[in-house]
Amino acid sequence: MNHDDCVFCKIVRGELPSAKVYEDESVYAFLDISQVTEGHTLVIPKMHATDIYELPEDVAGNLFRPIPKIARAIKRAYRPIGINLLNNNEAGAGQTVFHIHIHIIPRYSGISDGFNVKWVRRDGEYDYDRLGQIAERIAKHMNE
Ligand code: AMP
Ligand code: ZN
Repeated sequence: MNHDDCVFCKIVRGELPSAKVYEDESVYAFLDISQVTEGHTLVIPKMHATDIYELPEDVAGNLFRPIPKIARAIKRAYRPIGINLLNNNEAGAGQTVFHIHIHIIPRYSGISDGFNVKWVRRDGEYDYDRLGQIAERIAKHMNE
């Protein structure tokens, strides 16, 4: 994608409005327009990267560094019962804006909470032989 047309690059450049929560040299954090829960914040690298696969290691470090501070600020401001971090990569995982972003989603009890993750646990179905095979399959590709 042409970065000139990327919505989040436009926000970084100040060409589109945003409600800024935090900014440093390499990171910009602002409220998600959809406010799945109140305080729902997006953290993005100022440099365009489409998704996690494209993210250079140093940019990944810079991107994550301020997240604890932002999470603590949201916790102090809103007293949520918890906070989820979420990062969708590719359309198949629900990504709709193709400039990588971390969602910080404070959680509340009751109807003000519009967030849900379907998470089917399969504890006990995988023994350590099978888990070892899976880990090996992934690890083999680590340095490609
Ligand atoms: P994802 O589905 O993980 O790609 O999330 C993209 C998020 O970006 C959605 O939650 C949208 O509400 C949010 N979003 C899209 N455009 C804007 C915008 N101009 N300002 C703030 N948030 C936006
Ligand atoms: Zn971008």
